[in-house]
Amino acid sequence: MSTLKAVRGTRDLLPPETALWNRIEATARSVFARYNFGEIRTPVFEDTTLFARGVGEETDIVSKEMYTWEDRARAQSEKTQSLTLRPENTAGVVRAYIEHGLGESGQLQKLYYLGPQFRRERPQKGRYRQFSQIGAEVIGPPSAGSESPLRDAEILEMLATLLDELGIQGWTLHLNSVGSAADRARYNQALRAALAPVVAQMCPDCQRRAETNPLRVLDCKVPADQPIIETLPMIADSLDEASQAHFAAVTAALDAAGVPYTRNHRLVRGLDYYTRTTFEFTHGGLGAQNALLGGGRYDGLSEMLGGPRAPGIGFAMGEDRLVLTLQAQEKQKSTPPKVVAYIAPVGENMNSANLALAGELRHQGLAVELGDGSFRLKKSFESADKTARNIVIFGEDELQSGKLTVKNFANGTQMSVPRAELADFLLNSDQFLEPEGGRSTPEAPLVVPPARIPQKPIHE
Ligand code: AMP
Repeated sequence: MSTLKAVRGTRDLLPPETALWNRIEATARSVFARYNFGEIRTPVFEDTTLFARGVGEETDIVSKEMYTWEDRARAQSEKTQSLTLRPENTAGVVRAYIEHGLGESGQLQKLYYLGPQFRRERPQKGRYRQFSQIGAEVIGPPSAGSESPLRDAEILEMLATLLDELGIQGWTLHLNSVGSAADRARYNQALRAALAPVVAQMCPDCQRRAETNPLRVLDCKVPADQPIIETLPMIADSLDEASQAHFAAVTAALDAAGVPYTRNHRLVRGLDYYTRTTFEFTHGGLGAQNALLGGGRYDGLSEMLGGPRAPGIGFAMGEDRLVLTLQAQEKQKSTPPKVVAYIAPVGENMNSANLALAGELRHQGLAVELGDGSFRLKKSFESADKTARNIVIFGEDELQSGKLTVKNFANGTQMSVPRAELADFLLNSDQFLEPEGGRSTPEAPLVVPPARIPQKPIHE
């Protein structure tokens, strides 16, 4: 029988790598909380119309990358509906904003999300068909200050903080403004005029884009086209006064906050809904797919989806690419993190007593592994050395004496420790060891967060 494999462009994430994913998500949640964002979870699939309208029919995402199917009616009351696995999350968040009347509070909505997105792209390093994004949106009625350039600067400052706290070194913030819808219409005209005499010399994709969506020509990576693209007009020259002032206010606030950026005139982003500020954070270590995250302002999106006027700004970060970057920086050690202790029962009759001991330690917040009394001591030591920093031996002798034998693998010391002091002893043995060197500090926490205190069952 042929073996079944994960579908092309999808992957299984396994330990120890998943520890790094969890650390990234925990750091993101902690930073978002400090900036007063709340979590939103929208469905993984939506009505296809949402993306057609919200992302834009002409974009690569909608025209060729979506997983779309006709969902058959199951009852007479239902209609057959075209559904799509979400290729991005902003459209879903704005749909939810409209559907739940979130703007009616008159307050800014600051929402973040984490989750899988789906695009039928050609898989390569850093590009998958199922990938994970961490993103956030600030959206609200204009009276809540949603158009303010301060919102743009605050989001960018938050991203710089998040990348720094994650330990991503050497990121670059590329910043641009694509102006208002009217600015873009003017720019499209200027581009079409400039492209007309030269487009025949360009790649087939550019020839198509020049017809359908000239802005996309700026995304072209074909080397032979670059000298032509360099001569095209810049969008900065088509911005009206209000758009120029907005952009200047964003950069002034970034300067004041000490967030470095470079102006990138070609940054127009792949989605149709962007207005004014657009940005991307890149990292040199990622190769061809070097964008860690992208985002921008989308002042007209809510209205495009049939909602009230609700300017907004947001971003989506590729979690897969954060993981790749951190792994490349060797932040994550190739050896799996070890738990503090391996509990080794001596003899099968000691199994349940050892389960109880392991439970006690776990309830005190320690991460421990439990062996099996059918193992010979040598095998217990071998397993323990692979998974833990200490081994705790618990057999008949220890039961009699009330003291447990603890051996530390790093310094080879063996001690007899009263059961009541075991948890403290194990924790201190780690603290004592860290400065000794020779061993790297494990990435995973030495202690798991405090466990639930076991409750006595409540009887009515
Ligand atoms: P976008 O929604 O296209 O602006 O993408 C935002 C971020 O999501 C990008 O900067 C990437 O980090 C990540 N991303 C987009 N597409 C993929 C993909 N196919 N595989 C992995 N990450 C992706």
